[in-house]
Amino acid sequence: MRMHVRVIVTLLFATAVISGTVSAQSSDLDPRIVKLVAEISEERLEKILKRLESFETRNTLSSTTSSTRGIGAAREWILQEMQSYSSRLQVSFDVHQVAKQGRITRDVELRNVMAILPGRSPRRIYVSGHYDTVARPGGQGAANAAGAVRDPDAASPPPADPNAPLDNLAPGVNDDGSGTALTIELARVFSQSGIDFDATLVFMCHAGEEQGLVGARLHAQQAVAEKIPIEAILNNDIVGNDKGGSGIIDGATIRVYSEGPEDSPSRELARFVQRWGGRYVPSHRVRPMARPDRFGRGGDHSAYNQLGFTAVGFRESRENFTRQHDVRDTFEGISLPYLAQNARVNAASAATLALAPPPPGVMSERGQPMITRAPSGYDANLRWNASPGAAAYRIFWREAWGPDWEHELLVGNVTNIVLPNTQIDDYIFGVAAIDAQGHESFVTAYVAPPRANTAIRSSAGQ
Ligand SMILES: [Zn+2]
Repeated sequence: MRMHVRVIVTLLFATAVISGTVSAQSSDLDPRIVKLVAEISEERLEKILKRLESFETRNTLSSTTSSTRGIGAAREWILQEMQSYSSRLQVSFDVHQVAKQGRITRDVELRNVMAILPGRSPRRIYVSGHYDTVARPGGQGAANAAGAVRDPDAASPPPADPNAPLDNLAPGVNDDGSGTALTIELARVFSQSGIDFDATLVFMCHAGEEQGLVGARLHAQQAVAEKIPIEAILNNDIVGNDKGGSGIIDGATIRVYSEGPEDSPSRELARFVQRWGGRYVPSHRVRPMARPDRFGRGGDHSAYNQLGFTAVGFRESRENFTRQHDVRDTFEGISLPYLAQNARVNAASAATLALAPPPPGVMSERGQPMITRAPSGYDANLRWNASPGAAAYRIFWREAWGPDWEHELLVGNVTNIVLPNTQIDDYIFGVAAIDAQGHESFVTAYVAPPRANTAIRSSAGQ
C-alpha cells in the first residue's frame, strides 16, 4: 500500500515537471472556445436556410439575371450576408471561367463565395460546404433503390437547349444548404469572437459540386499553383437531417470520412475532430469513417485530397435519400438542433486548430520518418522538427493493429524523446504540437513510405 502511494506521488511529480512549460490552467478547454461554440444559434441557422430555400434553385447552370431566383441571386446574398458580420472578414467571389465539359453543359462563370479571417500566419484552415443544388426526376432515392452501382460522374441527359438556364425547382436545403448555413454561421461567430487566431480561417461556399466538385477542384488547383498553405479542410455536405429514410432517427452522432492510407494526414484530422470536437461538445459523438466517402457518392473534400491537401467530409448519421437531389429537399427535412450540434463540432475543431501551432514534421530530408532504435538498439527514439509557436509536444502511440491512439505523453519544448526498451516495430507513433495555452495540433504519424519494387535480372538469356 505504501509502495503504491509512493509510485503515485512520483508519477504526479513527473507529470508536473514534464508539463512545466505549459501554463498552469486547470482545464484542457479554452474558455474563449467554449464561448465561441456557445454562440452558434439555431435561429440564425434557420434564417439562413429559409433564405437559401427562397431562391428556389441554386443550380450552377441556373439563372444569374434575377435578383430573387437562381444561383446569381443566391451568391450575391451569401456575399452580402457574410460581409455584414465584421470588417475583419474579407469576403469575395472566387471566380472561374469553366468551359463546357461533362455535366457542365455550356460555358459558365462559376463563383465560389469565400470569407477570409486573416490570422497571424498565412497557413489556412477551411470550413466549407457547397451552395449549389440539383434536382432530377426521382432524385437520389430512385438512383439508390434501382440497385445498380451508379457512376456518380455519369452525364445527365442533355437539356433541350444547352444554353437555356437550368431553372427547375431545386431547393437543396439539406444538400447542401445545411453545410452552407453551417459555414456562414461559423463565419459570423469566428469573425465576431475577438480571438486573435494564429492560422488564417477561410469560410468557403463552393459552387459546381453537383457537376463533379468543379468549384472545389478549381480552387484547389489555384491553391497548388499559388502555393497557398492550406493545412486542413473541414467540409460539410448533408449535415442537417437526423431522420433516416429507413425510419431510424439519430441526432446524436456525426460521421467524418477521410481518405487513407491509415495514418494519412486526413485520417489524423478525423481523429483530431473526434478528440477535440468530443471534448467541447461531449453530447455529440464523432464517428470517424476509414474511407474517403460513402459508396458511389462524392464530396468536395475529395477534390482537395486528390491534389494532396488534408481534408475530411462531415456527413449526417442517417440519410434520407428520397429528399436528396429532389424537389422534396426542403426546410421540413431539417433538424435545427442536430445541425447546430454539427456546427459546434466544426467550430471547436477549427478554433483549436487555428490557435494551435502547425503539426510537426517528422520526415528527414531523405524522406524517411525520424524514428530509430537508438541508443540501445531496442528503444523508441523519436525526433521531429520544431513547430513555430510550440511550447510543448504530445507523443501518441498505439499497437500497430487498431485505429485509436491508446497512450499519450506530454513532453516539454524538445524535439526528441527516447522511450526505453520500446519496440518501434510493435507500435504506431505520432506527435502533436501544443502552444503555451494547451491548444493542440493534429498528430503527425511516423509512417515509412512504401518501398519501390526491385526488379531482379535473370541470368538466362538476355
Ligand atoms: Zn452535396
